[in-house]
Amino acid sequence: MEESDCQEFICSNDDEALMEMINSKAKGGAKLSKEDPRLKFQYKGPLNGILLGRHTWPLLHSLTLRYPNKPTEDDKVRFNRFIHSFSWCYPCSHCATDFRKEIAETPPNLESRKALSLWLCDQHNRVNKKLGKPEFPCTYGKLIALYGSKVKNKNTIH
Ligand SMILES: Cc1cc2nc3c(=O)[nH]c(=O)nc-3n(C[C@H](O)[C@H](O)[C@H](O)COP(=O)(O)OP(=O)(O)OC[C@H]3O[C@@H](n4cnc5c(N)ncnc54)[C@H](O)[C@@H]3O)c2cc1C
Repeated sequence: MEESDCQEFICSNDDEALMEMINSKAKGGAKLSKEDPRLKFQYKGPLNGILLGRHTWPLLHSLTLRYPNKPTEDDKVRFNRFIHSFSWCYPCSHCATDFRKEIAETPPNLESRKALSLWLCDQHNRVNKKLGKPEFPCTYGKLIALYGSKVKNKNTIH
């Protein structure tokens, strides 16, 4: 997809889009101005395991929510390679080792966007369980609401 073709909120990179998102969440508070320093993100690393995971899961879920509904064999091969490579490269080594075991035991379900999204949700829940965190209710609707492709300035999902 050409960059200019992207109508999704996720493709927004201007302050206005960020302001719109923050202001739509603000309840009764003062609206932000374009000059508000909170709009200027500055990375203040280094990442620890918690921050790394917190930033990585939304990326992974966003990827599965954009996987084709009806994937070709090439789509399947590409995603399968990606997830296996990821499991070798993830910078938390003990997390990566466990993830490799999990995907060997339960390989990604590459048959459709829904199947793949639910597979990843289950993988995330396996880590949640290991860490004593509550299980996330893995329904396709909840995943779309959190990570799906919201069209810019419209409250619609496609
Ligand atoms: C592949 C991978 C393996 C990891 N393995 C380990 C490990 O072995 N040991 C370790 O200490 N840490 C591990 N982590 C990090 C760990 O999973 C968390 O990211 C970290 O502890 C921060 O947790 P959090 O409570 O902020 O929420 P996170 O688990 O980071 O989740 C972020 C947000 O995603 C949503 N969410 C929660 N569960 C689900 C779900 N099942 N499906 C969809 N959305 C959900 C919630 O809104 C949550 O706030 C791993 C991370 C990754 C990406």
